[in-house]
Order: sequence, then C-alpha cells, then structure tokens
Amino acid sequence: MTLNKQKGNMYGFVTHTWNAIKGRCSHNCEYCYMKNLWKSDVHLDEKELKTDLGEGNFIFVGSSTDMFAKDVPDEWIEKALEHCKKYPKNTYLFQTKDSERFGEFDFSDFKNIIFGTTIETNRNNNLNNSPKRSLRVKGMNYMWLFGKRKMVTIEPIMDFDLKDFVTYIKIIKPEFVNIGADSKGHNLPEPSSEKIGMLIKELKKFTKVNLKPNLKRLYALDMEEAP
Ligand code: SF4
Repeated sequence: MTLNKQKGNMYGFVTHTWNAIKGRCSHNCEYCYMKNLWKSDVHLDEKELKTDLGEGNFIFVGSSTDMFAKDVPDEWIEKALEHCKKYPKNTYLFQTKDSERFGEFDFSDFKNIIFGTTIETNRNNNLNNSPKRSLRVKGMNYMWLFGKRKMVTIEPIMDFDLKDFVTYIKIIKPEFVNIGADSKGHNLPEPSSEKIGMLIKELKKFTKVNLKPNLKRLYALDMEEAP
C-alpha cells in the first residue's frame, strides 16, 4: 500500500494521510463527507501495516474514519500506532471526537505528534453519536496531555455563542485552531460572516488560526499561517 498524498479538502498543513483502520464510523455524523464512500464496517486493513511511511512527512493518521471511536478494538489502534513508531522522522496528527480515548494508549515513543479534536459549536445538536463536547474538551485536558502539541478543528462550523465557544476552545490550549465549513450542502445552522470574523479575532488572542479554503462560502478568506 502507499501513503496517500494530501488532496481535496484535507488540511493544507498535512502532506499525507494514512488509514490502517477503515470503514463505517460509528459516530455517524450527519454531515460526514465519507458516509457515501464507506463500503464496509470498520476494520483493520492489515495490508496497510506494510506501508512505508517515509520521513519528513506530516501525516494525518485516521483521516477516513474516527480510529479512536469506541467500537474500534484497542488491538487495531495499537497496531496502527506501532507502525507509525517505526517511522519516527514524521510528524503525526491523531484526531478524534473521542479524545478521552487518547489516554488508553502509549504515545510516549512518538517524537513529533499533534493531538486533535473536533468542536463544531458550543451549542447542543443531535447531529451525531459522538461524545459530547464537554467530554471532548475533558479528554484534551487530561494531565498527561499538558505541554503536548494540540489542535482543535471547528469543522463544519455551526452557529455558536461567541463567549462560550471561545471558552471551550481556550481551555484546551491548542497550538492552532482550524476552521472549515460544510462543503456538501447539509443545511446545517451556520454562523454569519460577521460572527466568524469575531470568532477569529478572539481566537487569535491566544492561538494560531488556520482557515480552510472551504470556509470561503461563509467568510472572505484571509489565509492564516499554517502550523
Ligand atoms: S467522526 Fe468523522 S469520520 Fe466519523 S462520522 Fe463523524 S465526521 Fe465522519
């Protein structure tokens, strides 16, 4: 198997994606762009464990399904992590909506690693089966993650209450925040351009902000420095 070059709507700062765990994600987010692409239940693709991950790459591991979702067995995740550890000269991004589960695995051998979670809004909605926002924040604040590189992605951004939303994100102490929009017309409740501008201004007081090209439907883009 080969390492996939970053393309499409992927983060601009990522050079590659790699997915050893594939298939239907149990979080079942209404807006998930992968939903129509999964052809099987979640599984470990053993062939991927032979992929040369190279060096000097910035790899988003688990970009096609949430590899830390509760129904993914520990053993599969451990095998994926062990494979990454064989290629220590890369930077790895691990992102999940079940960030509490990060604490169940040993990341101590990784030299360059970023832990990420998604927080689309501060408001409650019933758009997925994933852990509540408060649990995602809690998982990103466990003691063992203090001082580690962290990121938050606000994608797809949904309408929010500025003060509460910023507070949620600030607690995590992310090195950078990514903001992106729904690119598939899921009719989500979306904020105005003015509110997005206010959010960016507040976030920039304590972190870097990376705007994804798909945000341009909602906000005139002024691309920020990527991490
Ligand atoms: S957590 Fe990610 S991969 Fe899983 S359903 Fe939601 S958007 Fe899709």
